[in-house]
Amino acid sequence: MELLTVNFLFNLSILIVLLFFFLMWAEKSDEKNNYRETAKLYFIVSLVLCYVFSYRLTEDIVLDLRIVPFVIGGLYLGISPILGLLIIVIRGFLGIDNGFFIAALFYGVASWFIWYISPWFLKRSSKFRIMFSIGVTFLVSLLILVGLEILSPPEHSLDFWFAYLFVPPLGVAMISYLIEGIRRNVLLRQRLVKAEKLEAVEQMGAAISHEIRNPLTSAMGFVQLLEDDLLDLDKRKQYLNILKEELQSAEKVIQDYLTFSKPTIESVEVFQVEEELNQILKLLQPSANWYSVRVESDYSSLNYIQGDRQKFHQCFVNVIKNAIESMPNGGILSVSSRADSTHVTIKIQDTGVGMTKDQIERLGEPYYSTKGDKGTGLGVMVVNSIVKAMKGTIRVKSKVGEGTVFTFTFHVYKKSNQNSSGQVKHQDLRM
Ligand code: ADP
Ligand code: MG
Repeated sequence: MELLTVNFLFNLSILIVLLFFFLMWAEKSDEKNNYRETAKLYFIVSLVLCYVFSYRLTEDIVLDLRIVPFVIGGLYLGISPILGLLIIVIRGFLGIDNGFFIAALFYGVASWFIWYISPWFLKRSSKFRIMFSIGVTFLVSLLILVGLEILSPPEHSLDFWFAYLFVPPLGVAMISYLIEGIRRNVLLRQRLVKAEKLEAVEQMGAAISHEIRNPLTSAMGFVQLLEDDLLDLDKRKQYLNILKEELQSAEKVIQDYLTFSKPTIESVEVFQVEEELNQILKLLQPSANWYSVRVESDYSSLNYIQGDRQKFHQCFVNVIKNAIESMPNGGILSVSSRADSTHVTIKIQDTGVGMTKDQIERLGEPYYSTKGDKGTGLGVMVVNSIVKAMKGTIRVKSKVGEGTVFTFTFHVYKKSNQNSSGQVKHQDLRM
């Protein structure tokens, strides 16, 4: 006759293998409540598997490892009523006999008891929980053994005692140890995410207050100068102009910050990429002239995309400004667009100072700038968040001393769902 211990050990190894599959599954998808839901499913599937690999002692008595998922699932997830009911129902399929009624009574009471103590159990320390689960399993096993000895004393008594007193507690020990490890990991990860967020906010706060304080301090100085009653009109006008500029630059920092912290697209409209790019180039032409940068543009066709036009504008102002600023001794800025049936690709290329690998990696970090006092280190971060919100992509290629290419792709807005006002007109937009 086959040994019960061997059967139980085989059963246990299946439960452990299954646990690893479920763990991998839970790791893969990144929803929040995933571990809990996956764990519930694991215990239900394990219970069914316990029955599949059960050991039939007599007509009435079926032995298996069901107490392992029952005890752990009940204690850790508080689902013992579901598991208990499942045990009773499956046992019913094997026959409504004496064994069934005993199982129903036993698991009915045990379900209630485990469900009742589960909240208390979860408040204990990790070590205590493991020891407690093992203890409960040991006790339940003992009860089953005593019941067995009374109902139908088995032939190989030693094998039975060993199988029940050793295998289920071992299984519970292994599984609860793993669960504790997973719980610790999940908690740690949550804490890490929170800390990272806090750090980002702190960094932003520092960057913002630093950036806003500069223009405000200088604005304050000019207000003081303006207080002088003897100031002539020309000077007064000049100071007011500077004042306005300083306040505008403070406003821009706030605008950038808002775009970063609220990257959702607010107004969705269909607009033409090339037209928008030309507008930006016109806007930045004085700055390009100042740096002796020649601007070239080359558009293969006219393309429409859907999104927030203003944010798109802000995004490319930042990128093109960076490109111009990377060529302090002059150079060529080329802006181009290409499209296929699904995507439009926009390239912003400069022949500027370029970036090292490390610099490219740090791009987009808040406050990261190589421009000293002149830089805010917010531009690329804003660009990233806008492109992400528009479901686009960014690629950066750069070589020190040769220049940089920023490549963007966005989904093309299909003509078929374009309304009459957004119709494509073919005109040459070459500049
Ligand atoms: P800022 O322009 O205020 O420095 P950004 O976030 O716009 O801040 O840019 C961060 C940094 O990335 C810049 O300081 C610069 O070092 C680098 N960078 C961005 N674009 C380019 C480019 N086209 N060529 C070279 N370096 C660039
Ligand atoms: Mg910039």
